[in-house]
Amino acid sequence: MNQSDTITELSEGWRRVKVPLPFSLKWVNSYIVPENMGYTIIDPGLRTEEAEKLWDETLQSYGLDWSDIVRIVLTHQHPDHYGLAGYMQERSGAPVYMTERSHRYAERLWGGTDEYAGALSGLFLSNGMPDELMNGIVQNLAGFLPRVSPQPEVTYIKAGSSFPLGGREWLLIDAPGHAFGGLCFYDAAKRWMICGDQVLPRITPNVSVVPGEEEDPLAHFLESLERLSRFEVVLALPGHRDPFADFRERTAELQAFHARRLSDMRDRLAERPMNAFELCESLFGAQLRNNPHNLRFAMAETLAHLFHLELRGLASSRTRSGIKVYQSEQAGER
Ligand SMILES: [Zn+2]
Ligand SMILES: [Zn+2]
Repeated sequence: MNQSDTITELSEGWRRVKVPLPFSLKWVNSYIVPENMGYTIIDPGLRTEEAEKLWDETLQSYGLDWSDIVRIVLTHQHPDHYGLAGYMQERSGAPVYMTERSHRYAERLWGGTDEYAGALSGLFLSNGMPDELMNGIVQNLAGFLPRVSPQPEVTYIKAGSSFPLGGREWLLIDAPGHAFGGLCFYDAAKRWMICGDQVLPRITPNVSVVPGEEEDPLAHFLESLERLSRFEVVLALPGHRDPFADFRERTAELQAFHARRLSDMRDRLAERPMNAFELCESLFGAQLRNNPHNLRFAMAETLAHLFHLELRGLASSRTRSGIKVYQSEQAGER
């Protein structure tokens, strides 16, 4: 990536760095925030050689040293945001801030047991995922370990409290659904919102069922959008794509997207009962079989919508030969 394309100067001396990702998302936004003494880095990115190189070049181009990084702040625990935190901490000695819940999840995933992979397999297989595709997903998941290592030492921050960033006070807002434990940061004075992946422009944040966590993540996500839509925002700083201004409109679009998706699923299930994997393929296409990373997200998101429908009595399921099959009545007929 060329430097001018990679770094965007924002106002107040903030900078957005596009840290490359080896997936269809292409990059994650990292923000460099000037402090009295040094800089805070928000969401340093996934650990890859390209990302390490980019950070070396970025620091160099501004005449900075690793020790100029005085704090690392994480919006949430997903590897594309959290992955480089430990690496950056090792070099800078900076504290890493995230919520306790996010940290617990990171430890569950990358803490050296295969409990999470086992629970995910159990969930996906009982929802129709073929064995060979599940193996691909588990391998893909294990492949993330070097991209999130070393693990950082974490200092906890809490939703509802305030947090200083760039000489301004920010309200920490609980932002569940995409990642439980995730935070948005709001500065009421300048009306900026750092929204992580909770609200993204042009792409819909993934909402996944995570085994052992909330049964209806979609309900939490939609409620969170409702709460976020009440904030006056002039500049939203997202985890992916570009900073944007129409924050409230975007929360409404995301709500509408999920309403359409739910009604589309009910129609498909009214036509013929399906297990979650079949429904996932009918929605996202069979080409996902070649992309275990995207297949994992698509399957977990399909389950999030199905659980939401079932908990609201809008779909029902029966287990046949160990696999859950869903059915529904036509959305339009209710
Ligand atoms: Zn995320
Ligand atoms: Zn992300």
